Amino acid sequence: MAAISITLQDLIEKVTSYAPDADKDLLRKAWFFTNEAHCNQKRKEGTRYFEHPIFVASTLADLHLDVSTIIAGLLHDTVEDTDTSIEDISGIFGEDVAFMVDALTKLDKIEFTSREEAQAESFRKMLLAMAKDIRVIMIKFADRLHNMRTLEHLAPESQKRIATETLEVYAPLANRLGIGWLKLEFEDMGFKFLHPELYEELSKKLFKKREEQEDYIKNFTITVENKLKENGISAEVSGRVKHFYGIFKKMKSQRITFEEVYDIFGLRVIVTEKTQCYAVLGLIHSLWIPVPGRFKDYIALPKSNMYQSLHTTVLGPKGERVEFQIRTLEMHRIAEEGIASHWLYKEKNKIEDKDTKYIKWLRELVSSQNDLKDATEFLELFKGEVLSDVVYVLTPTAQIKELPRGSTTVDFAYAVHTQIGNKCAGARINGRIVPLRYELHNGDTVEIITAQRAGPSKDWLNFVVTQKAKTRIRQWINIEERKQGIDLGIKILEVELRKQGIRPSKGKSAKMEETAKLFNYKSLDDLLIAIGYGRVPAHQVVAKFNLNENTALDIPIISKFLKNIGSHKGIKITGIDNMLHNTAKCCYPIPGDSLVGYVTRGKGVTIHRKECPNILRFTSDERVVDVSWDMDDETTSQAKLFVETVDKPGILASLSALISSLKINLHHLQATTSQNKHAYFILILEVKNISQLTSLKNKMMSVDGVINVSRHGSEQIEE
Ligand code: MN
Repeated sequence: MAAISITLQDLIEKVTSYAPDADKDLLRKAWFFTNEAHCNQKRKEGTRYFEHPIFVASTLADLHLDVSTIIAGLLHDTVEDTDTSIEDISGIFGEDVAFMVDALTKLDKIEFTSREEAQAESFRKMLLAMAKDIRVIMIKFADRLHNMRTLEHLAPESQKRIATETLEVYAPLANRLGIGWLKLEFEDMGFKFLHPELYEELSKKLFKKREEQEDYIKNFTITVENKLKENGISAEVSGRVKHFYGIFKKMKSQRITFEEVYDIFGLRVIVTEKTQCYAVLGLIHSLWIPVPGRFKDYIALPKSNMYQSLHTTVLGPKGERVEFQIRTLEMHRIAEEGIASHWLYKEKNKIEDKDTKYIKWLRELVSSQNDLKDATEFLELFKGEVLSDVVYVLTPTAQIKELPRGSTTVDFAYAVHTQIGNKCAGARINGRIVPLRYELHNGDTVEIITAQRAGPSKDWLNFVVTQKAKTRIRQWINIEERKQGIDLGIKILEVELRKQGIRPSKGKSAKMEETAKLFNYKSLDDLLIAIGYGRVPAHQVVAKFNLNENTALDIPIISKFLKNIGSHKGIKITGIDNMLHNTAKCCYPIPGDSLVGYVTRGKGVTIHRKECPNILRFTSDERVVDVSWDMDDETTSQAKLFVETVDKPGILASLSALISSLKINLHHLQATTSQNKHAYFILILEVKNISQLTSLKNKMMSVDGVINVSRHGSEQIEE
């Protein structure tokens, strides 16, 4: 590599050309600071280390990033490789710059058991920061670009390791962000260092073929140009060669030789208007026969990285296949620059709305990563997600949903809402009932059939492909298995206690939690699960209770026993002790409501709200009893809300976002739509009391599209 010719003046000019009000003094300061920090270091290629951050900053200026990002680009290696600290950086250059530099600083290797672990943790840290601020990844891209361009100076093992990472992580990431040129360079450079001999061979063959076919491509181009001119369309037509890595991948996946790869050359037509794209397509198809199944309309259905074009393959004069890409100039710019294509300099300009479309998937991935034990697992997931191809399907309301290729109806259900996934019982594709494992195709209209009693099954894990579905199913199964384990543990323990003539009753501590610790379990629940699944014999546990000291059982287990035999804490029934009771499923009383109890045969007392229409009819009845609340602050009760909205995309998402922002748990959701384009939701929520519910109701009413929120709906009478 030749010595870098960029000077401080060059960089300032570059930045001020698009950001006239940029802080030049701060930029100067960062330049000298970095130079000073790295002054004793050299790159492997023998140049001053300083050349590296200069390249990075200059690349970022080419991408028109704001001055903070350029400064962070200059400083990006100072904390990792010199004595500079993050505090130094934030003190001199501010929090914004320090945030980016910190995100790019690898974690100290000493804290980890292996290099892989340290790398994975550093990578996770960077991705979390990137999901917050996309500028972080732009700096990393510029950094990686320079490292790839100077990779020949490193030892072969390092070359292979860095090249692999570039191919597995950075090229797909550049692709997802729509930066076409960067993706191609990452892929070709990665390929070059991973398979040097193959690269050399391909490059020779490609050069030869290009010479051979030059006239052929030229003729093809002229034919197209003339045809377009005849029809009054001015366009730029150019021949294009597939890049090395693309050819290599094709040879590998189809097990063919270089000579058998038919679409090494292609043509690209660039026009000014979108409608011209379709006109050009028609003209090309009138010249040559299109190959069936090869036409793709990425204009009507853009790729997830906003890529737009028409693709078609035709049979040329000698029967050979030639691929065409047809697009407008604007589409071409987006194909090349992606997320960077619309960046215009603005001070403190972080992620705009347009940008969030590019990284929505990343944010979802990051938000689901809390469930993952280690960073290596997260890295693997990320690699899978970043590479995935997509299918586009429709909701019954004709909303387009994008899912990774291979997704099933269950993936779709979870993509709509976790509760839809958890209650998913069946699916219709284009009106026809299909199995849940049905793999979605482009253009399918997907309708999920939910059932209140449905729940995910372990079997689903064998066919779902999205991270969200996998995580939510596992969560559900874990919770369900825990619940069952605890229930089973309590039953077994109860049987054992009775066998020994001990009646579980409320009393002073028998140190249940401590008993759990004696058996090396973190909590009482864990011990109960162990009993439930037979890992710990119940009689051993009972023996440890030390009941001969006349101690009874501790409260946690007592409350579980009581629940188990049908009681319910939190409600006092006047004059009746320990009576079996349950809350009514018609009015869902919650703390703060006035209550009425109704004695039923076989079911004990059913608790209703005083104003419940079902109970009003019985108020004179002798079976009505007085009941009142007796609750602590931490207990929640179920409440039911009926919500009517206009049927528009995103309304459920807004509602559930609101619910979770108030830290209220959504227990159940049922949705229906009506002829009049209204949607009806029945929500069952876990709330603390009436004031929390009222506040939620009021907030819901202010959501755009919500028509009515009520606790009253037409429900079956329940005694
Ligand atoms: Mn670097």
